[in-house]
Amino acid sequence: MDSLVRMDGDGPEWLWRSGSLVPWAEASVHVNAVGHASVAAVFEGIKAYVSHDGSSLLVFRLDEHLKRLYDSARIVRLHIPYDLPTLREALLDVLRVNRYREDVYLRPWAFPAGVIQEQMVPAGVTCEVVVDSWTFTSGLGTERECRAAVSSWTRINEASMPPRVKAFSNYHNGRLAMIEARENGHDWPILLNERGKVSEGPGACIAIVRDGEVITPSTTSGILESLTRETSLTLLREMGLTVVERDVDRTELYLAEEVFFMGTGWEILPVTSVDGLQVGDGTAGEVTRLLEAAYASVVRGKSDGHKDWITKVPF
Ligand code: PMP
Repeated sequence: MDSLVRMDGDGPEWLWRSGSLVPWAEASVHVNAVGHASVAAVFEGIKAYVSHDGSSLLVFRLDEHLKRLYDSARIVRLHIPYDLPTLREALLDVLRVNRYREDVYLRPWAFPAGVIQEQMVPAGVTCEVVVDSWTFTSGLGTERECRAAVSSWTRINEASMPPRVKAFSNYHNGRLAMIEARENGHDWPILLNERGKVSEGPGACIAIVRDGEVITPSTTSGILESLTRETSLTLLREMGLTVVERDVDRTELYLAEEVFFMGTGWEILPVTSVDGLQVGDGTAGEVTRLLEAAYASVVRGKSDGHKDWITKVPF
């Protein structure tokens, strides 16, 4: 488990903090700031892939992710004191100064600055913004699969903790579900919303294939408005498939020919069983594999289409 924990000194050389590049080891906050700062913090998870020709890093859907960061901050009434072009440049700087030559995960996040004295973080508090990064190994094209289980935990909802906000505190819900799934011998949970309909996984959206149609819960079903979901639906439609956004019942997961997760971190992840029931023939289905290949091609800049989804950082 400790291999999952990054300690002081283990990071990249530089991160960006509130206006300047800062050496990793110097980027500390007072211990008293940790509680409130994490309750109120919002963030983004963005990937930069090495291009297929090995010449550059390609940041995927950078502006859309940054827009979602501002949307999250707006909903929870945090004030980010930098405009989007400044943050955009900050992310690109972090890639450049760390001289990355591998796939990189970028995490811009905003948290209330200083030690908050009140019990609640008031609206409008000025934020610090950090851009953190680390390398990752892509699962695309590696024939990864996972076994999923419907969680006994209900997905957080719009009336209490809006899942549309990408807040660290929302991951309390996903974490409980993940621990339960692992304890029961599955890889990942699928959460149902307060109406008992399928919502999403703890770090990715979900879709099924039934009678050849791709079906995914709508953006009002208690999900994060995922960019990988939107990317996937676009690519699937371009492949000529019918894509429907509607409520999905738990039992449809049991009848689906294919089930897959979609997210920046998880990429396109085939689900081979749900609650112990085999999905299809128990391996990744055809639609899932086609989507995974199309996604891999787009993020590595191999595909001719959707160049506007990519920000190139030459080596
Ligand atoms: N849902 C949740 C809860 C997530 O954490 C993520 C990962 N950001 C997603 C969905 C997928 O969103 P995206 O495709 O924009 O990464």
